[in-house]
Amino acid sequence: MVIKMSGISAKAKNFEAVTANKGFDYDHRRKINFNMGRYHQAVSKGVADYRDLELARDRAAEIRWKAIEHLETNLLRFETAARANGVKVVWATDGSEAVEAVLEVVRRHRTRLVVKSKSMVTEEIHLNSGLKKNRIEVVETDLGEYIQQLDEEPPYHIVTPAMHKSREDVAALFHRKLGTDPHASPEALTLYARYLLRDQYLQAGVGITGANFLLADTGGVCVTENEGNARMSTSFVKSHVVIAGIEKVIGSSEELDLMWPLLASKGTGQQMTAYNTIFHGPRHNLEEDGPSEMVVILLDNGRTRLLADPALRQSLYCIRCGACLNACPVYKNIGGHSYNAPYSGPIGKVISPHLLPFADFQHLSQASSLCGNCTEVCPVRIPLHQLILSNRRKAANEPQVNWVTSSQGLMWKAWSRAMQHRPLLNLLGSRTKAWFLRFFFASAWGQRRHLPSPAFQSFHQQWAKRKS
Ligand code: SF4
Repeated sequence: MVIKMSGISAKAKNFEAVTANKGFDYDHRRKINFNMGRYHQAVSKGVADYRDLELARDRAAEIRWKAIEHLETNLLRFETAARANGVKVVWATDGSEAVEAVLEVVRRHRTRLVVKSKSMVTEEIHLNSGLKKNRIEVVETDLGEYIQQLDEEPPYHIVTPAMHKSREDVAALFHRKLGTDPHASPEALTLYARYLLRDQYLQAGVGITGANFLLADTGGVCVTENEGNARMSTSFVKSHVVIAGIEKVIGSSEELDLMWPLLASKGTGQQMTAYNTIFHGPRHNLEEDGPSEMVVILLDNGRTRLLADPALRQSLYCIRCGACLNACPVYKNIGGHSYNAPYSGPIGKVISPHLLPFADFQHLSQASSLCGNCTEVCPVRIPLHQLILSNRRKAANEPQVNWVTSSQGLMWKAWSRAMQHRPLLNLLGSRTKAWFLRFFFASAWGQRRHLPSPAFQSFHQQWAKRKS
C-alpha cells in the first residue's frame, strides 16, 4: 500500500515515507494479522451474548449523545459531587496545564517515583516526558505499556499497546533489558514483570490513572482493566491523580450497566473486563488503605473545539474501545506508529487534527479508503467515515498546498482547462499526455504503482472514426 496525499507538512512527508515502507513489511503484517485474528475471534464470541446488539448500540449512542449535548451541566454536576466526596478537581485547558498540575502534586508529596496505569490521555499530553524533565521517574504498570516503555516506544494501539510484538519479540526484549531467559514463556515473563512492579507500587508516592467514565451523579471515576494494576497503582500511594478528558462524563451511574459490558465486548471480546473500579474519593477515616488524597484533572486540550462543530462533536462519544482500529484495512497495513499521534486508526484520523495542530495532522484523513467498516463496528455509532470526509473538506478549504505553484496544482489547472475544452485535449497525442502524467503526477502516484498510460487513441477519436 502506498498512501499519497496533497499535504506538504513535514509530518505528512514523514507519514508518506513511513507508510510506503510499512505497507511492504511482511513480518509486521504477519504479526498484526495473527493478533487481530485472535481479536476478531474473541469479539465475535463476545458480541454473540447480546440478544440485540444493534439495540445496545443505539442505546449506547444515545447515552453518549445525551452526555455530550449536556456536557457543561454534566461536568459541573460531576465536579460538585466529586468535591463533596473529598476529591480535588482541577480544570486544565491544555496539556502543559495538566502536566503542571501533576507536578504540583508530585512536588507536594516529595516523591521521585510515580506509578501509572494505562491511559491514552497521558500519552496525548506527553506526561512521561514532562515528568522526566523534572527528574521524576514514571513506571508504566500495565503489562503492554510496560513492554513499550522498556522498548522506549509509544503504544502501538489504544487498547493493546504492544500488539505489533510477537511473544519472541517480547522474550528477546526482556532478555536484552532485564537479563531474563531469551526463550522464557509469556507466563514466566509476566510473573517476572509483576515481581519487579510490586516493589515500585510500594515505593511510589503518587499513582496516576486515566478514567473510562466519570459519573456526574456520584462524582465517581470508573476505571476498567484486566490486570489489577490500576488498583495496585492507587492503593499504596499517598495521592491518586486521575487525568480525564472532559468528554468522559456520563449522566448517571446506571448507564454503566450498558457501557461497561459494551466497552469490554467491543474492546477485547470479554463479557466484562476483569477488574472494574469506581473511585469515590480518598481514603475515609475508617478505611485502612488507599491514598490520603485524590485529584481529578479535567482536560480540555481541543475537545471544546470538537464540541463547537455540530458534526465533529460526535467524535466525543468515543469510549476508546479500539474496534475501529481493528476494522480498518489501512491501520492493518500501516500499523499504529505510522500515524505519529497518540490516537491512531479511524478515530485518530478524526480527532488528531483537532487535538493537535490541524496543519500537521490533516493529511491523516487522506489515508482512508472510506470503506465505512469503522462506522459499522463502532459501539456508539460514530459516523467515522463521514467525519473523515468532513476533515478532508476542512483541509480543502484551508489548503496546506500552494495550488498556484505546486506541480500538482498546475497539473490540475491544466487538466481542468483541457477537460472543459475538448478541442484542446484532442490536440495532445497520447505520448504528450503520458509525459504530462509522468512529469506532474509520478511522485504523487508512488514508485510501487504503475502509472496508467493514456490510450493510443482517445475515446473521442475512436468514436469519430467508428462513426465515419
Ligand atoms: S470511535 Fe467507536 S470504534 Fe473507534 S475507538 Fe471510539 S468507540 Fe471504539
